[in-house]
Amino acid sequence: MSAIRPASDGVDSPFPAARLPPTPPAVPTNFIRQIIDEDNRSQKWAGRVHTRFPPEPNGYLHIGHAKSICLNFGLARDYGGRFNLRFDDTNPTKEEVEYVEAIKRDVKWLGADFEGPHGGGVFWASDYFERMYEWAVELIRKGMAYVCDLPAEEMSRQRGAPTRPGVESPFRGRPVEENLGLFRRMREGEFPDGARTLRAKIDMASPNLNLRDPVMYRILHATHHNTGDQWSIYPMYDWAHGLEDSIEGITHSICTLEFENHRPLYDWFINAINQGRTADGSGPWGQRIHHPQQIEFARLVLNYTVMGKRKMLELVREGHVRGWDDPRMATVAGFRRRGYTPEAIRAFAEETGATKFNAVVDLGRLENALRDDLNRRAPRRMGVLRPLKVVIENWPAGRVEMVECVNNPEDPAAGTRRVPFSGALYIERDDFMEDPPKKFFRLSPGREVRLRYAYLVTCTGVEKDAQGNILAVRCAYDPATTGGNAPDGRKVKATLHWVSAEHAARAEVRLFDRLFTHETPDRADADFRTFLNPDSLEVVREAMLEPSLAEASPEERYQFERLGYFCVDPDSKAGAPVYNRSVTLKDTWAKGGEGGGA
Ligand code: ATP
Ligand code: MG
Repeated sequence: MSAIRPASDGVDSPFPAARLPPTPPAVPTNFIRQIIDEDNRSQKWAGRVHTRFPPEPNGYLHIGHAKSICLNFGLARDYGGRFNLRFDDTNPTKEEVEYVEAIKRDVKWLGADFEGPHGGGVFWASDYFERMYEWAVELIRKGMAYVCDLPAEEMSRQRGAPTRPGVESPFRGRPVEENLGLFRRMREGEFPDGARTLRAKIDMASPNLNLRDPVMYRILHATHHNTGDQWSIYPMYDWAHGLEDSIEGITHSICTLEFENHRPLYDWFINAINQGRTADGSGPWGQRIHHPQQIEFARLVLNYTVMGKRKMLELVREGHVRGWDDPRMATVAGFRRRGYTPEAIRAFAEETGATKFNAVVDLGRLENALRDDLNRRAPRRMGVLRPLKVVIENWPAGRVEMVECVNNPEDPAAGTRRVPFSGALYIERDDFMEDPPKKFFRLSPGREVRLRYAYLVTCTGVEKDAQGNILAVRCAYDPATTGGNAPDGRKVKATLHWVSAEHAARAEVRLFDRLFTHETPDRADADFRTFLNPDSLEVVREAMLEPSLAEASPEERYQFERLGYFCVDPDSKAGAPVYNRSVTLKDTWAKGGEGGGA
């Protein structure tokens, strides 16, 4: 496990500020930016901005974490500050090294480079255990903490309720020396799990239950991935978190709204340590420690999605999905595999902003962010998901013509490519109807349509098997319509994509739908698993793609004309590519097949 490395702008008071040139904010302001602007005006932190992302390494990161990462890193970047990745590994039983690696990979991929110019580095809360312990001893000495022998159930009974004060522990008045001795013996592993706790002596009548003598340490004989068997006591979140922030010199400690009524405790702990300390270190307790500002914002909640790590773990363990990076999962790894770009996720994070109000965000906004990004960047290709053979009767036998296709109409610099066209093609099954209703303008007997970039063709007949299933559609092409343009200016109502049969690359294509059928699956009355969408994955075993798509490396992204944006899946093998549909286009089949017209 890598050792702690101090942030290069210094973590000890008074924080020499190695200011980097700020990147001018490209995003609208929000209440956190307003706080920072005010802090900079008042010189509260001497112009420093130092944020962090503090995941517990007990699962993969989800889109909510991504929002927090983008927010924290974005502030560091835009204000010329720094951003730390800190593993909050204070809970030895649940953490796994696999998650640590996945988290680093995901944070970097999102663009929050904790080792780059605005990065402070990687930190481990467990590296601070000794310092935290010493501060706890200090609080005991100051009469602000005590060892309590109450069992957990008794303690929670005595805690009271918001409307009813709690009962003071009979151990609250324990003499300092006795507390010191017991706390040391707790550390040395003398007592069994749960036998004793160290509690802060605050106020058992506080209207804020968090201040009713909260537990700072519990006894836990567990092996920790970093500290091994060195510790038999582990710090509780509320005690540890502010100290971690303080040690790293964090200025703005951003967390989600549920922690708002933990803030008084965050402040109480740091103030307790600072009691009797002075700025210059004179006095009995030494120099004051840094006191960061906790700021809360509303967590991201997306509809049709579950995000809690416990629930996501159940989806993985029970095989409802293929793994943490299944493209249907709301994990960063899942979105990445699905074909999302970091740019799209960052744009979504910025667009949904930082607010003080909890609201459910529509999944469609995330999808739109991806469409906006890929529309600008993704090369266009043609691919047929449900092939129907088309035979062009008047096409010269054996002739292959290379037609020129535009790579990206949004980006002239993307140029063109040449795609083979021949007398035997595939089109989408849905683009043909033998007996069409009035509003159907695509191919049907007697109707003329445009084959994208190639020719106008008219349907002359249908080939069927004995059961009446359509085997192929017969057409005649107009040789005067090269490039799909009629010299006489006649119009056709539909433009279809196609692939030459003999040249087609065969591929597996995976189409996804929402994983859940309920808008808020984890807030519904029933178990969230009852809302799993049985049709969330559709596998097209043999799609026909234009030849250039045979060889593609993972994370290459394309627009398949009229079908959506697709991305190469890591399951691809040489000659057997697998594509994931990342998102559909805005106008899909439902609109009458005119999307993608030339
Ligand atoms: P979960 O239980 O959903 O997996 P968590 O809060 O337990 O989330 P942590 O690893 O403790 O996960 O969180 C790391 C950071 O990510 C915290 O600062 C937390 O505030 C932030 N975070 C977690 N979920 C969200 C969310 N939905 N929206 C925004 N930030 C989030
Ligand atoms: Mg957590």
